[in-house]
Amino acid sequence: MPEPESAEELEEEPLSPPRSEDADVEVEHEVGAPPVAELDPETRARRDEALRHVRKFGDPVLRASAVEVDSFDEALAAEIERMGELMHDALGVGLAATQLGVLHRVLVYRVLVEDPVTALVNPVLEFSSEELAIVEEGCLSIPGVHVEVERPAQVRVRAHGASGEELQIEAEGLEARVIQHEIDHLNGVLIIDRISREQRKEAMRAMREALQDASPA
Ligand code: ZN
Repeated sequence: MPEPESAEELEEEPLSPPRSEDADVEVEHEVGAPPVAELDPETRARRDEALRHVRKFGDPVLRASAVEVDSFDEALAAEIERMGELMHDALGVGLAATQLGVLHRVLVYRVLVEDPVTALVNPVLEFSSEELAIVEEGCLSIPGVHVEVERPAQVRVRAHGASGEELQIEAEGLEARVIQHEIDHLNGVLIIDRISREQRKEAMRAMREALQDASPA
């Protein structure tokens, strides 16, 4: 996994979060989320509320490495439930605990709306295919940015479930991508670390514009 480049190079000063209202078309949906413009007002309001809890680019917690969970207690179950709800409301397909400012190695994802939420605690990538795929990704923590990210097409991950049960998941397609995206978060790695310098400059510009557009005139 590549080391993130220096904060200086990424111009990672704190940015004020976007105000929600109506200017956030195209802003901050996670991989696979539906276009924001098509949302009904109630869904948008719920999404905006959920997004207020998601740490945004520039927050140092997104650069921290999360620590392993060692007790599978009620507090963990509650944390996982909250993550699933926020992910659902934010219309994301995945969410890592670090994105909520919690430095636990916990992620949740749900690739299809009708699927149950999968929670992975202390996930470890056991296998990554040599075959790579390039797919556009967004991130709830990086408003307005969608970049093509190259990743292994298939992975196998070992983890624990919410109650401590052992899980082994073989994934491909969007599921493999989301799992890798969220494990990156647990290691303080963001999608902008996985693209070229040129693409990154472009992405930073897009984010500034998204934040500006979302600010009051
Ligand atoms: Zn993300």
